[in-house]
Amino acid sequence: MRVLQVSAEIFPLLKTGGLADIAGALPQALAGVGCNVRALLPGFPAIGQVLQASRVVGEFRTPWGESVAVRLGQLAGVSGGAGPLSAYMLDAPGLFDRPGNPYEDAARRPYADNHRRFAALGWAAAHLAYGLDSDWTPQLVHCHDWHSALAPACLKLWPRPTPAAVPSLYTVHNLAYHGVFDASVFGELGLPPAAFAVDGLEFHGQVSFMKAGLYYADHISTVSPTYAREIQTPEQGCGLDGLLRARWDQLTGILNAVDEAVWDPAKDAHISHRYRPERLAGKALCKAALQGHSGLDQQADAPLFAMVSRITEQKGLPLLLAGVEEIVARGGQLLVLGSGDADLEQALQQQCQRHPGRVAVHLGYDEALAHRIFAGSDITLVPSLFEPCGLTQMYGLKYGSLPLVRGVGGLADTVTDADLATLEDQTATGFVFGPFTDAAYQHALRRAFALYRRPAAWARVRQTGMRQPLGWARAAQAYRALYQRMVAH
Ligand code: ADP
Repeated sequence: MRVLQVSAEIFPLLKTGGLADIAGALPQALAGVGCNVRALLPGFPAIGQVLQASRVVGEFRTPWGESVAVRLGQLAGVSGGAGPLSAYMLDAPGLFDRPGNPYEDAARRPYADNHRRFAALGWAAAHLAYGLDSDWTPQLVHCHDWHSALAPACLKLWPRPTPAAVPSLYTVHNLAYHGVFDASVFGELGLPPAAFAVDGLEFHGQVSFMKAGLYYADHISTVSPTYAREIQTPEQGCGLDGLLRARWDQLTGILNAVDEAVWDPAKDAHISHRYRPERLAGKALCKAALQGHSGLDQQADAPLFAMVSRITEQKGLPLLLAGVEEIVARGGQLLVLGSGDADLEQALQQQCQRHPGRVAVHLGYDEALAHRIFAGSDITLVPSLFEPCGLTQMYGLKYGSLPLVRGVGGLADTVTDADLATLEDQTATGFVFGPFTDAAYQHALRRAFALYRRPAAWARVRQTGMRQPLGWARAAQAYRALYQRMVAH
């Protein structure tokens, strides 16, 4: 099965969130179940710098008249199975050769030509599907998030007769980020006028790339079964729940997984001491090292709560901030690594100043420190308002840092709350709370403290969590089965 994977990010080359982790891990996992995956990526500097032995396979003209070359090469540092991943890249410096964040300028404003940049990505996918590279044509195009969501529309509305339509799968990693543009850009997208309609990509008078993906893809998937249900409700549908309900029988939730080549405390080169479920001595040493590095009191028996996250409301920062006193008053410590909303970042820093030795904050993005935090902490906090899948709770499980999560989306699908029944049958893996309220969150904190004071029970829950099967094999099989159904259709 030949699959073209289209995304704007790919780990470890370019990452702003979980999408990159998935795009980086899926090709190798799919190779393991017999798929032949190639990536299609924008020519961001981080991609162009490592695309090796590349050659131009063809050129196409964008709807606004620019000629774009598509290169094929090997992506150093990203595994495609037997060797580095084969990737097509849009060689369009005018669109993509910009430093820093791939979507925003230095002042954090979205680039004014983002519609062109990601329309080019969508058209490139359709050109490849319909023969731009005569040596390799995909049987299916798998697109991720709004940046690649025009591809299903381009494939469906391709202006010339095609030998056989190539189906597309569109995976939603976060329905909250739509890629919405003013109606005036529609004329530059190269789509027939009829597409700018309710039955198309029009969304409240604007152009929505997300809606293009949801409307034109042959099948939609999202990253957990619970989120697949939640996005069909008005509360979590971001205005698209009606369309998602109408397509319920072409909507599948496939739970994300952990790339165990990157996230495994027994092999992790980022952490000071490696450990495994049956030999945990290294974890205590990682905790001491983390406390020392972060300016926290070096106290082995203080439960260390941690969060590695974008600093946004979605990630539950209001709950986290309101719960700081609860953690400190009970003798715990809090460590946050993240970046995002300036006001929330400032509020975190104030908490840090108020509680020296008990609260520490690292603002910024630091992949190595993230590993050290999961290894050194006792509890991983993910009190999200909504969460399509969430990865950090799974990293917490693998590293023996018990996840404390709100029971939404993929968090509900991956963490089993510690109550008397699940403690007894040894299925508990963490703490799950319901309402998005300070009271519910802080009650969960208190339950974590209570369990921490029972070391034998804590150790059992940690063992169960660390032994969860979180690798990609199961998800890869689910994707392959879905691809096969779509191609056979
Ligand atoms: P989302 O994609 O909504 O941001 P996920 O939990 O799915 O959330 O994925 C977030 C990913 O980004 C995880 O791999 C997490 O470890 C990583 N991450 C988030 N913030 C930081 C940071 N400041 N430094 C390092 N890694 C981070």
